[in-house]
Amino acid sequence: MRSYSLTAPAKINLYLEILGDRPDEYHELALVLQSIDLADKVDLRSSSTDTIRVRCDYPDVPQNKGNLAYQAAQLMVAEFNHAFAQYGGIEITIHKQIPVAAGLAGGSSNAAAVLVGLDLMWKLGLTQSELQELAAQLGADVPFCIAGGTAIGTGRGDQLSPLPGLDNLYVVVGKYRNLTVSTAWAYQTYRQQFGNSYIADQDLASRAAAVHSGSMVKAINNKDGVQIGQLLHNDLERVVLPAYPQVLQLRQTFQNTGALGAMMSGSGSTVFALCESYNQAQQIQQQVRAAIPNSDLDLWLAKFSSTGILVQSTAKN
Ligand code: ATP
Repeated sequence: MRSYSLTAPAKINLYLEILGDRPDEYHELALVLQSIDLADKVDLRSSSTDTIRVRCDYPDVPQNKGNLAYQAAQLMVAEFNHAFAQYGGIEITIHKQIPVAAGLAGGSSNAAAVLVGLDLMWKLGLTQSELQELAAQLGADVPFCIAGGTAIGTGRGDQLSPLPGLDNLYVVVGKYRNLTVSTAWAYQTYRQQFGNSYIADQDLASRAAAVHSGSMVKAINNKDGVQIGQLLHNDLERVVLPAYPQVLQLRQTFQNTGALGAMMSGSGSTVFALCESYNQAQQIQQQVRAAIPNSDLDLWLAKFSSTGILVQSTAKN
């Protein structure tokens, strides 16, 4: 029996447009998603018990059924009961680097790592699209986290079309440690304030299709970092920035550094600055630290990544 260590990267949204309502109460979205090399490590091992156990040393991350990684294991047990019976219980240990409830899909990426890891551990031989179908049952961001890289996401954000990799760009990611924004609150508030401008049901499919030929996708196809920086977009800023002055201030500080662009990721409260080089990212990190000398502000420097879940190492149990 082998144990696996997997790398589970964070994602940022280069583009997030809310198109309309869906019958399942989610929103119809047009996203451009990007993996970055700020990543958690997820260790998986089999145990002699017949239970699933999850451990995580990070505050506010549940160590029970509330953990998305646990739910991923539960789903695999339900789908592949014969393998569970053969290989025994599952121990999951999550080493957190990705800030929690930050709009960086940390939980989703951990869940994706468990799907990929158990597929290997149980020798199931699932294809990427089979893994993504399972992932979609766990959350809208989980299918993207499997393969990562750069992709368009439509529907709930889980109808994916891969784009060419952009692995020579960098980001400085900033978040106030004690400031979180509820994703549910952000989308509900957006619906209350802007729901009357939603696209009619019959026009949704053509609008979603148009994203494929939109300016952001062209800029990515041309690997044009300057254009990408100018086209960064996130509709949720319209509700989050007025309600959270610290996020607004951080966003403005990033914008004033001379970065290619700055934007909130997902529903926040993380903000990122897009940078053309490692050196620029280092300078911007220092500039922001000097401009906001608040010890509650965490800053990370990360590189765009063209991969999703990766096996870091394997060992015999
Ligand atoms: P998204 O961008 O997909 O909305 P997020 O980055 O905003 O995700 P997460 O870090 O995934 O948010 O955490 C959201 C909530 O989920 C947290 O409040 C946390 O308690 C819970 N959670 C469950 N499992 C995990 C996990 N493995 N890692 C982090 N948070 C988790």
